[in-house]
Amino acid sequence: MMKRELICIVCPQGCHLTVTEENGSYKVTGNTCKRGEVYGVKEVTAPRRVITSTMKLQGGRLPRVPVKTNGDIPKELIFQCMEEIDHVTVTAPVKAGQVVLPNVLGTGVDVVATRTMGMV
Ligand code: SF4
Repeated sequence: MMKRELICIVCPQGCHLTVTEENGSYKVTGNTCKRGEVYGVKEVTAPRRVITSTMKLQGGRLPRVPVKTNGDIPKELIFQCMEEIDHVTVTAPVKAGQVVLPNVLGTGVDVVATRTMGMV
């Protein structure tokens, strides 16, 4: 039997979860809602994260634009994803929500700008 204590990061309430596994089936306790149960099982089987970072910006008012993935990606790809983001330079103007790096690492998830940035 496996038992893990986690804090749910799906919403700011931060419920303390206990995930137990026995014979391949998972049980989550401590969650206030269904999303916590889904998160708990996912976290112990295939953890994923949304990545936030900044990307180089050419011709903009600032040298970098804030970005994030528009979905979660496997936790083991976080550093590779950060490297990919670091290798891209986007040209101003950029609109919030604009895809600046599609299908990062073949995950089906895009990196999007989170702030509109005009030209100099
Ligand atoms: S279990 Fe539900 S209420 Fe609790 S932190 Fe997770 S999402 Fe929020």
